[in-house]
Amino acid sequence: MMAHPFQHCSACGSSGLIARGVREFVCPACDFQHFITPIPAACALILDAGGRLLVTRRAREPGLGKLGLPGGVVEGGETGEEAAARETLEEVGLDITASSFRYLVSLPNRYLFQGFVWPTIDLFYMAQIASFDAVQPQASEVSEWFALPLEEVPLDDFAFASNAAAVRALREARL
Ligand SMILES: [Zn+2]
Repeated sequence: MMAHPFQHCSACGSSGLIARGVREFVCPACDFQHFITPIPAACALILDAGGRLLVTRRAREPGLGKLGLPGGVVEGGETGEEAAARETLEEVGLDITASSFRYLVSLPNRYLFQGFVWPTIDLFYMAQIASFDAVQPQASEVSEWFALPLEEVPLDDFAFASNAAAVRALREARL
């Protein structure tokens, strides 16, 4: 595992970047600053009319074969709600408007990508729809999906602790 992802300066190509604290890495040759700051990700908690939660099984690493929620990195210019809606459409084929999503909670997470564990901040949004009849999973992202009563979601099977904590928060919000 890399201590940080900057093996070479992205401005001049020099190696031997110097860590200044936990988030700043400075080139010894040209002083170019590189940063590791949390990457925002949006995740969707989608319920049907019966209060069942849409849970996916991940078709790729990290967390291949474990449970997940539709979600991914927020793109430039997007709101969290728009990112949650886009990722939901991309991963499970449900077309839910961004304005249907309500913010629930944010939780820090860690995400292994290209040999480095990046910090993320996961933003969780919930939406309720009539049914999951239109679900069409994207095979490259989702191998299987489930509609589970909130109390029956197996929290220990999630790839990411943030997802389990968000389901817990949703249970409490709906009590
Ligand atoms: Zn440099």
